[in-house]
Amino acid sequence: MELSRRGFVTKGTAIISGTFYNRHEVFSNPNIRKTMSRPLIISTWPFGEAANKKAMEVINSGGSSLDAVEKGINVTENDKENTSVGIGGLPNSEGIVQLDACIMNGPKHEAGSVMGLEKIRNPISVARKVMEHTRHVQLVGKGAQKFACSQGFIKENLLTEKSKKKWLEWKKDNQKKSLEGSSENHDTIALLILDEDGNLTGGCSTSGLAFKLPGRVGDSPIIGSGLYVDNEIGAAGATGIGENVLRHCCSFMIVEFMRQGLSPEEACIQAIQRAAKIDPKGIDLNIFFIALDKTGRYGAAGTGKGFQYSVTTPKQSGILDSAALSDIDAGPVGGNEFQN
Ligand code: ASP
Repeated sequence: MELSRRGFVTKGTAIISGTFYNRHEVFSNPNIRKTMSRPLIISTWPFGEAANKKAMEVINSGGSSLDAVEKGINVTENDKENTSVGIGGLPNSEGIVQLDACIMNGPKHEAGSVMGLEKIRNPISVARKVMEHTRHVQLVGKGAQKFACSQGFIKENLLTEKSKKKWLEWKKDNQKKSLEGSSENHDTIALLILDEDGNLTGGCSTSGLAFKLPGRVGDSPIIGSGLYVDNEIGAAGATGIGENVLRHCCSFMIVEFMRQGLSPEEACIQAIQRAAKIDPKGIDLNIFFIALDKTGRYGAAGTGKGFQYSVTTPKQSGILDSAALSDIDAGPVGGNEFQN
């Protein structure tokens, strides 16, 4: 079902696909985005573009989509300048880097996940091993690390000078502030692929909220929250405050909205609307989503301005603004274009 933009931008109340959109204004990009180019690779944030390009390279040189998800996300995990994923990720309140990741393989509906993984820089690769070499889906903490070592992963110090400095500054100045007060210090790479055969795969990797309580696990490694892939319908991934994504099972919800016929962008918006409607935090959830469907439609939405996502096809690669929801009094959010 293709919906025009006009039907989708609301002030006050509008009815879209039998759903009441109210309380919030939706600033959407002009068209439902769709491409016939395959593979279609999308990921969260501008830093995702380097991961997308690596994923494309892997596919072009004969790798599988799973290889592409893993190797693409490895680029972000290995980037020491990125303080929210992999090595260089900001540590927990005790100065220990604890990483979360998960991966899903659409055709077999398989999943693997690791949580609170210490000293291993590539949690997405360990998550893949969990999926492919165990009869489990999730491994946590020491067990996840022991498993990683048994698979040949090397333990190393993940705290860089830069992240250590930030942690020490936080300890000195800010530790009395609530954990949510440090919410600028987090991001996730979620990366989704629709391949040439029409199959879907996805992965998600993060160091979570900076200075989190030791043992805290967010949405990113939780199947259905930080990531969900349904090979018949589509895939979705999340970034933002994990606690708020987790409590609403958002990625699963987005895929279910796509199953009902909504475009990826509409599905992301609908999930945010639904969460905001029942959540005491309302629109202040600080959550952001990307999604694509089986037909090559893709999109993203978030609470508030500023969320961008990376889109890469064999023809081009670019960074797009997501649709943004805000209180109806807030000013509009601009959108940019990406031609297929
Ligand atoms: N969702 C991540 C977490 O809560 C953080 C982020 O993506 O900003 O761990």
